[in-house]
Amino acid sequence: MENRCRLWRCVSLWSWSKIIIFHEDTSNGPEARLLRYVGSRSPVMGCHSEGHESLINKGTTLRGKSAEGLILNRSSSDSHDSAPTRVVVTCALPYANGEIHLGHVTSTYLPADIFVRFCRLNGVEAAFVCATDDFGTPILIAAEQDKKPPAQFVEYWNQRDLQDFGDLSINFDIFDRTSSKENIELTQHFFRRLYEKGHIYEQEILQPYCPRCQKFLPDRYVKGTCPYCEAVEQYSDSCERCGKAFQPGEIKDPHCAICGSKPEKRASEHFFLRLSEFTEPLRKWLLENDNLQPEVKNYVLNWIKEGLQDWDITRDIEWGVPVPLDRAKGKVLYGWFDNHLCYVSSTLKLTESRGIDGKAFWNSSTIFHFIGKDIVYHHYLFLPAMRIGVGEYKLPEFIPTRGHLLLQGGKFSKSRGWYVGLREFLDSFPADYLRYYLAAITPYSQSDVNFGWRDFQGRVNNELVANLGNFVHRTLTFIWSRFKGEIPRPDRFDDLDKEFQTRIEALSGQVGKELSRIELDRALKRILEFSDYCNQYFQRKQPWTNVEKATTCLYLSANAVRSLAILIEPFIPNSAEALWELLNLKGSAYEQDWDSISSLQISPGHSIRKPEVLFRRIEDSEIEKQIERLGPLKS
Ligand SMILES: [Zn+2]
Ligand SMILES: [Zn+2]
Repeated sequence: MENRCRLWRCVSLWSWSKIIIFHEDTSNGPEARLLRYVGSRSPVMGCHSEGHESLINKGTTLRGKSAEGLILNRSSSDSHDSAPTRVVVTCALPYANGEIHLGHVTSTYLPADIFVRFCRLNGVEAAFVCATDDFGTPILIAAEQDKKPPAQFVEYWNQRDLQDFGDLSINFDIFDRTSSKENIELTQHFFRRLYEKGHIYEQEILQPYCPRCQKFLPDRYVKGTCPYCEAVEQYSDSCERCGKAFQPGEIKDPHCAICGSKPEKRASEHFFLRLSEFTEPLRKWLLENDNLQPEVKNYVLNWIKEGLQDWDITRDIEWGVPVPLDRAKGKVLYGWFDNHLCYVSSTLKLTESRGIDGKAFWNSSTIFHFIGKDIVYHHYLFLPAMRIGVGEYKLPEFIPTRGHLLLQGGKFSKSRGWYVGLREFLDSFPADYLRYYLAAITPYSQSDVNFGWRDFQGRVNNELVANLGNFVHRTLTFIWSRFKGEIPRPDRFDDLDKEFQTRIEALSGQVGKELSRIELDRALKRILEFSDYCNQYFQRKQPWTNVEKATTCLYLSANAVRSLAILIEPFIPNSAEALWELLNLKGSAYEQDWDSISSLQISPGHSIRKPEVLFRRIEDSEIEKQIERLGPLKS
């Protein structure tokens, strides 16, 4: 199987135990593609594995044709001026303490992956970056419960997440970790710079301390009863049942989460970031950035109006980035101080290993941070404040923010059994079905969306199978059986044919416009409208009534199938490649140029492969099994 590392424009081929890496040399034109052997890597590693990078020549040009047609500025939708040629796309980091949540796939990882694929089809150079969030008390507690050292615990989840993402066809250029040497160094650098500039101050505070365990108990180390709904065994920061967030000391009947003892209060010296000082620069940045979603922006501007509180950025635990000051021994930085810096450190790691100036790469890219609405505060205030304070790495242009995912109308909850695991899902249905469904139901807004099992079945059966799949299959089987698998030579175009061609010509622009605005569900709707139109065209032309006169219909339909293969690549890449194979075209769907969607590139005489069904129907019994497994919704 051939696989490409897009950022580096090199080609890797799978073999038994390793991936053999070649360099692509197209200096003699794209037809004379030369594959030059440069080394090998293990198949389990991403393209960013060290063995790989060290083998790559420095100075090779990255992929980057002009990105004409890509519009990424919401405020100047019809101008091509703002089209970026280089993007850094990051996803909120999954905590390294459990399975990838379908909700996060919906709000963050899938939209980002679709967008990156679209950028690459447009020749935009993209660095697609993610990592596991390894530090913080939830991780430490989970590791203690698992009786594993935290470093070993997070190592397992990092590998597991990487595999799960891969199985969902989400392939980052780098999937690093916040506990990496590079991220620890960058985080300490940020702390030092902010400290030197006076943005960080020290203050003594009273912290819960367990006399029996002989340690401070930050955040989730204290459990107790919710003062609002009386739910027992809640963490001291918020209630899982009623959703209320608590102030420190507010929880009733506090006790140590490890041994159950009543904690006492002890004084501890903590470090605070003067977030309040950044009020004006943050307001200015928010008001001037037209790319941010207005509803999120207004929400954040209201917080600013209410006044920003300084942030306690240290914790009295051992698992974290050590505060880089001699007198702060035993203290680490709060997880939200270091985790988003991993967007930067992993981009630097990815680029610098290839001899590219990472900081220059970052600062000359258009930056996208894809997130869910639960971490708006951190990404719209905390993250930009830290970057403004240090002044070395530019702020994001886009922070695409999406809502929560509900399951059959109820909130996802693993503890209450109202839950579908990603692995569990992929064991029952193809990854593309999940990608398709989630992309179709998720708008570019903070609205919550609902995963409904019957809705999922309906979408797959009515849209993928009966609409898109039907047109593709009837076209290919007709060519296979009536034209011996060869694309026929078209006759003169009648009015219907001319209209069909006009529709094909408009496609790349119509769908591309939605995708470039990150309006992914709308783009998908346009694609389905087109394939619906294709079915109508085929029906009206009735090629089966007179095969001799059907040549134009099948010539145009085959070309529309090719356009569809590229159109669906960002959304359902496995189906796109399978379709590309059936069309027997050179290369892969993902290597094509987006603009070529609008031209008729399959010539008469081209032979296709024996058609196979792309999408299968989901039976009622499969859905009933899933609904039964969930049981009744408990509140
Ligand atoms: Zn409660
Ligand atoms: Zn204790």
